[in-house]
Amino acid sequence: MILILKKGVTQKGIKEICDKIEELGFTPHVSQGEENTIIGVIGENAIAKKEIFESFFVVGSITPISKPYKLVSREFKKEDTVVKVRNLEIGGKKIVVIAGPCSVESKGGLLEIAKIVKESGAVMLRGGAFKPRTSPYSFQGLGKKGLEYLAEARKITGLPIVTEVRDTSQMEMVSRYSDVIQIGARNMQNFDLLKEAGRSKKPVLLKRGMSARIEEFLMSAEYVLSQGNYNVILCERGIRTFEDSTRFTLDLSSVPLIKKLSHLPIIVDPSHATGKRELILPMSKAAIAAGADGLMIEVHPKPEEALSDGFQSLLPKDFQRLMKEIRGIVKTFKRSI
Ligand code: PEP
Ligand code: MN
Repeated sequence: MILILKKGVTQKGIKEICDKIEELGFTPHVSQGEENTIIGVIGENAIAKKEIFESFFVVGSITPISKPYKLVSREFKKEDTVVKVRNLEIGGKKIVVIAGPCSVESKGGLLEIAKIVKESGAVMLRGGAFKPRTSPYSFQGLGKKGLEYLAEARKITGLPIVTEVRDTSQMEMVSRYSDVIQIGARNMQNFDLLKEAGRSKKPVLLKRGMSARIEEFLMSAEYVLSQGNYNVILCERGIRTFEDSTRFTLDLSSVPLIKKLSHLPIIVDPSHATGKRELILPMSKAAIAAGADGLMIEVHPKPEEALSDGFQSLLPKDFQRLMKEIRGIVKTFKRSI
């Protein structure tokens, strides 16, 4: 349920309502927009207490939120959320391109890729230090060393970094190094990890689970917001279908649908979604046309030697071409890059 407060409400008035919400066993979430102050009353069956809030003078109107996800819904917040990461804004007019290797493999290798992607126009560096691998015998990532290399690459290039946290025990360390915390597809419903990310102060990049419906995806984002972290970037990375000629099936319809259902920014990862290098450029263009706020792309100068996902990593020259070619699409859809 949301309470829309009357114009000119004071901080004291807001506090009185929040105290009442807590007294009744719910959690208040205050959103101060340009036009209105809105308070979300979050908890099971909050609407049953509607009459109590109607008696407050500062409450202008009360509306229930019809969806099971509350704080992430458009009903709760009409304006798009713009997530700030250092000097970047995700969810605004600019399309944000995040690029880098699948895994951080070595310091020299990471620095080389960071410089290449920056030169071509990427504005954030990706790279996994804790890798979620299907096989326990595959490369698991460099762990803390990998985080140190990422921090070094940020220092040299100025690019903010995003890296995955695989487990709650890694949260403190990963959020200390990284600008954005990534929660991978395989962990989209790791509820303890989501809550821990919700308590962290860093923005969260939440990837769609490979078997997750859109409602489940948004409910996972709700876990993060419910703990007070409103800076969530969603990422469509493909889902499992009967089709096996691509690694996953890129569900691009989720982009405009999520834009309708939620105020959170959404980016697309065509690398994991297709698993095919030659499909990354066309699907990047399609993602922008569908309304995505950005792209996340894997790049490696020697894909045949990559320790993970080499088969879907773009060569530097292909990434450069992609950056050139998407400029036209970006303009057509009245965005910038
Ligand atoms: C990744 O981005 O490195 C990754 C493992 O992706 P996903 O969680 O989408 O499979
Ligand atoms: Mn990968």
